[in-house]
Amino acid sequence: MLLTTVAVPVPLSRAFDYSVPEAMAAQVRRGVRVRVPFGRRELVGVVLRSPVEQAAGDTGLRSLSEVLDAAPLLPPELLTLCEWAADYYRHPLGEVLSAMLPGRLRKGADAVLQRPAGYQLRAAGREALAQLPGRNRAQRQLLTQLQDGPLSRAALGASIATIKAALDQGWIEAVELPPAAPMVTAALPTPTPEQATALAEMAAAPDGFSVTLLDGVTGSGKTELYLRRIAEMLAQGRQALVLAPEISLTPQLVERFAARFGDGVLSFHSGLGDREREQAWLRARAGDARVVIGTRSAVWLPFARLGLIVVDEEHDASYKQQEGFRYSARDVAILRAQKLGLPVLLGSATPSLETLHNAQQGRYQHLRLQRRVHSAAPPTVRILDVRNLPLDHGLSQPLLQAAERHLEAGGQVLLFLNRRGYAPVLLCHACGWNAPCPHCDAHLTLHRGRGLLICHHCGAQQPAPHRCPACGARELIGIGAGTERIEQALANHFPRYRVARLDSDRITSPSALQAQLDAVRDGTVQILVGTQIMAKGHDFPGLSLVGIVSADQALYGSDFRAIERMGQLVTQVSGRAGRTGQTGEVWLQTHHPEHPQLRMLAEQGYAALCEQLLKERSDAGLPPYSHLALLRAESREADVALAWLDRARPLFENPHGVIVTDPVPSGMERRGGYWRAQLLLIASQRAALQRVLAVALPQLDAVPGARKLRWSIDVDPYDLM
Ligand code: ADP
Ligand code: ZN
Ligand code: ZN
Repeated sequence: MLLTTVAVPVPLSRAFDYSVPEAMAAQVRRGVRVRVPFGRRELVGVVLRSPVEQAAGDTGLRSLSEVLDAAPLLPPELLTLCEWAADYYRHPLGEVLSAMLPGRLRKGADAVLQRPAGYQLRAAGREALAQLPGRNRAQRQLLTQLQDGPLSRAALGASIATIKAALDQGWIEAVELPPAAPMVTAALPTPTPEQATALAEMAAAPDGFSVTLLDGVTGSGKTELYLRRIAEMLAQGRQALVLAPEISLTPQLVERFAARFGDGVLSFHSGLGDREREQAWLRARAGDARVVIGTRSAVWLPFARLGLIVVDEEHDASYKQQEGFRYSARDVAILRAQKLGLPVLLGSATPSLETLHNAQQGRYQHLRLQRRVHSAAPPTVRILDVRNLPLDHGLSQPLLQAAERHLEAGGQVLLFLNRRGYAPVLLCHACGWNAPCPHCDAHLTLHRGRGLLICHHCGAQQPAPHRCPACGARELIGIGAGTERIEQALANHFPRYRVARLDSDRITSPSALQAQLDAVRDGTVQILVGTQIMAKGHDFPGLSLVGIVSADQALYGSDFRAIERMGQLVTQVSGRAGRTGQTGEVWLQTHHPEHPQLRMLAEQGYAALCEQLLKERSDAGLPPYSHLALLRAESREADVALAWLDRARPLFENPHGVIVTDPVPSGMERRGGYWRAQLLLIASQRAALQRVLAVALPQLDAVPGARKLRWSIDVDPYDLM
């Protein structure tokens, strides 16, 4: 009997054996999709190995129902990558594979790449052209246009009747148009001296796998370097993958690539419909897409001839998927490049400590770009002590005066605050009621414009009350400020100028973002208020003042990455100022002007802050000097998760030196109606951590009480809350 192993999309960490009917044997190969019976259902799975002969077969095995692909749909390289990731992140392979496949393909549809249709000249048409009488103008024109090769309907511009007549005569035939040839525009900017040095050093790296960190301030020409490296790959007939954070994947970025490389540029993001996603997937697989610019999930695209991976803004949190299959697209990209023997470019003005550490250890090439292409110096950050100053909706007089100065001088002003809504707390002045979320240990945020109270943790919404629900008093006060409040305060304070707000309440699509960015760029808007949505990637040439409304939240943050993130945000937001011409100013309001790390950031910059943070991490044995895995558990009932983790903890006891902390309630114990607790594993070696997880996790479901809760494992967690 012939046997094969199939990964099936179910939440089980194992693959399943099936018997292979003789008639299917030749087609069943690794990477081919098959339909299989599973329980009472039929599922689409992926074959993991070619059939093997089994002498005394297990008679209970069920057999494959159908083979769906004539050739493997998944390139072997990608399948191996998925297997590795399933293993490393401890997530079922079947689910990894189905997350990676576009919807219809996942359900078993045929994989058909639809290249754009067009027409080409046949030999008969060529002969006809020589003999056609001059009055047959439409046909002459059509055949003449096609002399140099096939063209699309649109490019031809001929009427349906003309085309039909030519088809009927056998002069032309319908064809699939070939993929656009890669093009590189002729006029490239001359590299700056720093860019030239970086290019020379990259060229000096040995062929094969290498990781290069392009550590360069905003506007120093990193993207231009990506474009050049990509051009080299295209010239060799290879493809390139560019990963970008969701919010910087604007039409502007894609256009910049398309302007350089033409039609072979494809953007791949969550805004695509099912069909578009599937066709994009197939275009990458066929090699038609020469350059793919995509968000996190693009790291799983099947490439025919991948030659280079770029990870822009490599520090960005959005590369880590925070639920379900909790992978880091940056880390997967590096691993994929390693397995394929390719170069990787990591770019950032604020590299993560992990990446800086790898560079210091000599594992990554570290190239610095310290000068901006178009202006002398990045702005310096000035700390503004707001203790005892009257605050107008969170804004101090000195900051408002500075804004006024810049506006009157014709500059633009940006105010940054990482908090949406009007006020984070709605308080009753009479009785102290403060709008708690019914499902979380959190307050509801007042969104005054929409008349709603919204929980930013679970999404719960309710109408904003006019009277206190507890005592009936009318005195409800919004405490603290969000972007909506700052926007209003500025509109009142500066009636002569236009204010725009950029946050996820206002910006719900890439095109909405683009529209706002255009309004800023063409000067329609002079004052910009927003969250981290505008912290990166975008270019505001007229911006001369950046005000950071408060950095204090990060200083109280309990997550060990809080200060690192604060440094990244402040630096990225500051990088928006003074990109062309005038030097920008950055003002940072704080109630902790003496905070040593804040001072260090303001006075010596992000790199110096990182030096110090790395030392602290090393002393504390935290990443990047150790590796973490977080076991989370959550239950509808109080205390269940914590008690269960206590019982599960002994399973993690190990002789490999992996530290197992005591279970604790999560930072926000109750969220979305679940009571949450967690247990942290800390290891100095990844391999030791993996060994412990491999032993313990399969036993977790047998720990008493497992039925009453959900648990999940997060390897290399980004967020410890
Ligand atoms: P980064 O990615 O580091 O923010 P960019 O590559 O976007 O920097 O460069 C900043 C600006 O300078 C862009 O408008 C870009 O077109 C321009 N630029 C980059 N390199 C050069 C160069 N060598 N000569 C002229 N302009 C350049
Ligand atoms: Zn009240
Ligand atoms: Zn909530």
